[in-house]
Amino acid sequence: MAKMKVPFYSLDYVNDSLGRGLQAAFGKVLDSNWFIRGASCGEFENAFAGYCGVRHGVGVGNGFDALTLMLRAAILQGLLKRGDEVLVPANTFIASVLAVTAAGLVPVLVEPDRATCNMDPSKLERACSPRTKAILVVHLYGRIADMDAICKFAQSRGLLLFEDCAQAHGACLADDRRAGSFGLAAAFSFYPTKNLGALGDGGMVVSNDASLAEMVRTLSNYGSARKYENCYLGVNSRLDEIQAALLQEKLPHLDSWNSRRREIAERYRHGITNPQIECPQAPTVPESHVYHLFVVQCKRRDELQEFLNARGVETLVHYPVPPHLQQAYTEIRTTEPLPELRHGELPVTESLAKCVLSLPMGPGLRDDEISYVIDSLNEFA
Ligand SMILES: *Cc1c(COP(=O)(O)O)cnc(C)c1O
Repeated sequence: MAKMKVPFYSLDYVNDSLGRGLQAAFGKVLDSNWFIRGASCGEFENAFAGYCGVRHGVGVGNGFDALTLMLRAAILQGLLKRGDEVLVPANTFIASVLAVTAAGLVPVLVEPDRATCNMDPSKLERACSPRTKAILVVHLYGRIADMDAICKFAQSRGLLLFEDCAQAHGACLADDRRAGSFGLAAAFSFYPTKNLGALGDGGMVVSNDASLAEMVRTLSNYGSARKYENCYLGVNSRLDEIQAALLQEKLPHLDSWNSRRREIAERYRHGITNPQIECPQAPTVPESHVYHLFVVQCKRRDELQEFLNARGVETLVHYPVPPHLQQAYTEIRTTEPLPELRHGELPVTESLAKCVLSLPMGPGLRDDEISYVIDSLNEFA
């Protein structure tokens, strides 16, 4: 078999196929001479919130700010208070946990289910204390978490529910149960490689709660709802007009890109027969996974990655060091009584960090590249 070079993710496909449209969107903003939160931003906020099945959308600077501002808005609305505990997956990109800390809340880490890598609902009870007030669920790798169980638990405990949808644009359990519509509010990132990505940073908070959405808008604009009236200690985190126009141009294609990702996932699942490599289980509702990442598990992960790399197949690890083992959190733990990370042993999280490997994935991955990746995985002895 001739050697190929398969990149982990390629933006060529999306940018080439939409080239003209993206340039027209850019031109429209250029001509308007309005670059922050103008007509394009408003249009995209409505379109994306509508796509999620939610009433309000507020464009912000990035996914991390979307998470932080959504939580801070809930505090300012009196729904949470500083020092309250928030259940958050132990197995996630650190932004989910950092945002809880940044909002002045205490992240309490919950172990994942080994098969789905998402928050394990059976571990929620044990993580709760009288100070637990909310759950921040993450739809990791693009797979909707076990929302039936998680929503039921939140309801029985009177906990607020928030979502980190940074990897799950468009994932849905049913037409009216889309990522972003399950809780009080949800945060999205439009980082360039996400399923819906800008040509730079971007993010959005979506919510059915008009006053919470308005609070996010105010906080993200220096805590000011009216010019030069600053009611809150806000920040500057707004969605650029150019990014909003580009995202609006891309949004109509999101569903077909997600379908292509699912198609690739099915080919991987059926093609990979090496018993050393475990593919992620298919969810019962196919549309509930948008395969931001296709993550296999292998006990000899590092050797496998090395082997694939030598064959020209680029892979990544999401994530090699879980948040609770990061230096950032060691320092917080030793220098401040609060906020701290509260958690017990996290053996599932720690063992996943040693065996997960993300394969090339994206709407631009070609059939011959998929076959080459599959053959390479099956040749790993
Ligand atoms: C990408 C990501 C974020 C952060 O988004 P940025 O736009 O990079 O700030 C947060 N949570 C998860 C799960 C992510 O994958």
